[in-house]
Amino acid sequence: MIDLDKNEIRSSLLTQRGKLSKSEVESMSRKIVSSVQSHAEWKNAAEVLLYWPIKNEVDVTPLFRDALESGKKVYMPCCRRDEPGIMDFGVVRAEEDLLQGSFGIKEPCRSKCEFPDAISPDVMIIPGVGFDRKGYRIGFGGGYYDRFLAHPQKAGSLAVGVCYYFQLVDNIAVEEWDKPVQLICTDKDVIWPK
Ligand code: ADP
Ligand code: MG
Repeated sequence: MIDLDKNEIRSSLLTQRGKLSKSEVESMSRKIVSSVQSHAEWKNAAEVLLYWPIKNEVDVTPLFRDALESGKKVYMPCCRRDEPGIMDFGVVRAEEDLLQGSFGIKEPCRSKCEFPDAISPDVMIIPGVGFDRKGYRIGFGGGYYDRFLAHPQKAGSLAVGVCYYFQLVDNIAVEEWDKPVQLICTDKDVIWPK
């Protein structure tokens, strides 16, 4: 199978995702959220990493509320202003702990939230512009999650890629720094890459 060029596929998937209506985002996101919630790894997780959606990304905010209500520790990323490509992770205890930050993303407030030096959540919910069936991911092109996933994680932890069905593509041209996820949940598929 031919490897797809990352930049081409990134821009075409972003265009397609940008055209989704609010109701399409809502209905597909609901299915993806339910799929994540159906997994024992989510139910049993004591600590989870989540993101706040932008630009028609899968709306995982119900997972944020579910996690807080069920007493999970929630981490969310905060991009460093002066170091592109690097995220720090804050512990979020309520939606009020989030502030509008880089790229218009809601981020944990640096003065309100604890930012541990290293985190090792049980479940990491990873957004993407595209994923292939091996778990490889295309992001916005900053390598943010590749850098995070390069850090050693707790044994048994699970990186879950979430995307809409059309963001699942054939083999992505993998570069040496690209890190795969272990589970992909779309509104139509559940994939456990080997
Ligand atoms: P994305 O994963 O967001 O689609 P890329 O995989 O194209 O983006 O990565 C963007 C940049 O990030 C690359 O130039 C790469 O060198 C850099 N990068 C990715 N992971 C690391 C890492 N672990 N350490 C240093 N640089 C990295
Ligand atoms: Mg990458």
